Amino acid sequence: MSKRDYYEVLGIDKNASDQDIKSAYRKLARKYHPDVNKEADAESKFKEVREAYEILSDSNKRAQYDRFGHQANQQGFGGGGGFEGFDFDINDIFSSFFGGGQQRRSQQQNAPRKGQDIHKRMRVSFEEAVHGGKKTIRTTVYEECTSCHGSGAHSKDDIKTCSKCNGSGTITVEQQSLFGRTRTQTTCNQCGGSGKTVARKCETCAGDGVVGKEKKVNVNIPEGVDNNNQLRMPGFGHKGINGGPPGDLYIVFEVEESDTFERHGDDLVMELPVTFPQAALGDELKVPTPYGNVKLKIPAGTQSHKTFRVRGKGMSNLRSKRKGDLHVVIKVVTPTNLSKKQTKLFEELSTTDLTNDESIWQKFKSKIKK
Ligand SMILES: [Zn+2]
Ligand SMILES: [Zn+2]
Repeated sequence: MSKRDYYEVLGIDKNASDQDIKSAYRKLARKYHPDVNKEADAESKFKEVREAYEILSDSNKRAQYDRFGHQANQQGFGGGGGFEGFDFDINDIFSSFFGGGQQRRSQQQNAPRKGQDIHKRMRVSFEEAVHGGKKTIRTTVYEECTSCHGSGAHSKDDIKTCSKCNGSGTITVEQQSLFGRTRTQTTCNQCGGSGKTVARKCETCAGDGVVGKEKKVNVNIPEGVDNNNQLRMPGFGHKGINGGPPGDLYIVFEVEESDTFERHGDDLVMELPVTFPQAALGDELKVPTPYGNVKLKIPAGTQSHKTFRVRGKGMSNLRSKRKGDLHVVIKVVTPTNLSKKQTKLFEELSTTDLTNDESIWQKFKSKIKK
């Protein structure tokens, strides 16, 4: 089945602002909401719109989608799943957006629903980002209360039909406005739209219907992970309702900075201090890389800020697994605390025009080697 482009679904262009996305979504969600629109395909259209919004309103997901289209996240380093298969309570979305809305909750009460996703941030060291690794996090996972099976009631007999809405979950409010009297349907404020009230709450979950359990989750830190990279762990979210599947766990990484290396995508940049004679005469230098020291030859007459590339000593690319390069920026250090002999040598040098005289290097070389 070919999927429509998310931008096309929302009728916006690729440069749309967050505000554009939001207003396009609001408009279409109103148009296709199954309580409003009775056309056969309204619900599937609504879901399509909702999914497009879900992705494009999240800057990370949007960036991934822009780069990889519908493939985003399917073959990403999170693996598995992908964006399809969103399961959500239309009314939750609708009410959170439009403040109210008609309720279908009473009919959906026993329908299986996917558990909520969990989002966690994880801080990793620069070394962990270089080499990858494993880390354990603790997370609270909500699951259906086993005592009341999610009803929140002490016993079945404690579940009563809401007296205010007679179980419909909605009430009609009459208002006087400029256009006369209007009648609007809104969520029942006594039962919150469920159509039911609980006389005596379940002791285990205090009437919530769910209980939080602390779980330890082992997270594989991908080699080459960067700030704000997101790892999706399908099925590690909150447990589903009424036998629905569990949600997903999203790990968003924060990578600590290195004292030595500056990261530019997959490449690393470092500054390497060399002495004036090393720069003038050339030398073989020992260069630290995240994978151990390497040797680097610099030619005679190397200028400060000259950059040398050490191939394959950068960060791993998350997708291709190829390593970037390390750029070594030479920094010639002006000597301090010169000895008498050194001072004399520099004094001798200063009498000559260093910028023009080629032979001065030879002279300098022969003097310093003594
Ligand atoms: Zn309970
Ligand atoms: Zn009610």
